[in-house]
Amino acid sequence: MIYADNAATTKMSKTAINAMLPCFDAIYGNPSSLHSAGQQAAEALLSARKTIAEILGCNPNEVYFTSGGSEADNQAIISAALYGAKKGKKHIISTAIEHHAVLHTLDKLKAQGFEITLLDPHENGIVLTDDLLNAIRPDTALVTVMYANNEIGTIQPIREIGAICREKGIPFHSDAVQAVGHIPVNVSHDNIDLLSLSAHKFHGRKGIGVLYAKRGTVLTNLIEGGAQERGKRAGTENLPAIVGMAAALKEAVSHIDENAAKLIPMRDKLISELVKIPHTILNGDKQRRLPGNVNVCFEGIEGESLLLLLNEKGICASSGSACTSGSLDPSHVLLAIGRPHEIAHGSLRLSLSEENTAEETEYIIKSIQEVVSYLSGMSPVWNDLQKGEKNYVIQ
Ligand SMILES: *Cc1c(COP(=O)(O)O)cnc(C)c1O
Repeated sequence: MIYADNAATTKMSKTAINAMLPCFDAIYGNPSSLHSAGQQAAEALLSARKTIAEILGCNPNEVYFTSGGSEADNQAIISAALYGAKKGKKHIISTAIEHHAVLHTLDKLKAQGFEITLLDPHENGIVLTDDLLNAIRPDTALVTVMYANNEIGTIQPIREIGAICREKGIPFHSDAVQAVGHIPVNVSHDNIDLLSLSAHKFHGRKGIGVLYAKRGTVLTNLIEGGAQERGKRAGTENLPAIVGMAAALKEAVSHIDENAAKLIPMRDKLISELVKIPHTILNGDKQRRLPGNVNVCFEGIEGESLLLLLNEKGICASSGSACTSGSLDPSHVLLAIGRPHEIAHGSLRLSLSEENTAEETEYIIKSIQEVVSYLSGMSPVWNDLQKGEKNYVIQ
């Protein structure tokens, strides 16, 4: 099997698994207990917190453990919104290409009377800072822009956006779930006040993540209970997952350049070969994209059929985002960069990890060429296009 769906989730690294093992056995205490078993767990917890803080460029007490990226996104956005509302600020700026954990939270706030401005990215999938400047109002309570997109891999100008927000005194949140561990992220250099990350996107465990909140940022509790996470996120800590996350992150960042140097040539080879297939287009910017992300649209072809046939050839890929596959709605991200509905349906995302090889890349290219040619032969849409009864959108 060739796994090329690392934006959906990754395989755990041996390092992360080995770091977790003692937490299933010797280190079983509750970090809140005062006795030695508890203190041993508390030490492991603090050590993980310090590792993560050092990597992110923040203080350990600015790190809040959550159940993952979705919870961190929810807590960051709801906290900033409620804090803003207290001061009469009920306007939030975000982008049309955010993850649903952000967009659906914003929908909920909208229903509660907040005004939401969603910036449309440029056709290459990157948000223009001028658009942000034009959208800022005196009552803007929050700007939330993802670091890198989970579907088309585009990397946003986060440092510039952060600098604008800092200058205007507006809290800035970034969903950095796809970025952390893959490209350099530093909350202090990047002027970020709130950041979300998730362990299972960098070879850690599923169900664990971090909300970074800059000192002085007022957080709202989503879960009430004990005093864990400085009273902001109740519940006995998932120590094995937290320890595994710290180990996975440390490993990922220590190989970040090396991994990118391995992935970028494979990514670029895939892109250059796939766009040679007639009526195929790359989604997202060619350069400013995650090292392992490839996303293309094939005209006249159903993404779902493509995936199933690739699966038969042993290739795990994705069409649209994992959350929308299963429904017939085309990806909101592809629509936001201007792909028409019928094109957005024929999309394919390959997300590589450093475990993939150049040989696998060759096999993926060959398989896609075969599958696309097979499917276009049977597609009524393709037939109409060929006969000139319909015009191609992708030339
Ligand atoms: C995966 C992902 C999330 C959700 O993270 P979970 O830990 O699965 O809840 C949020 N944002 C982005 C960009 C993601 O890729």
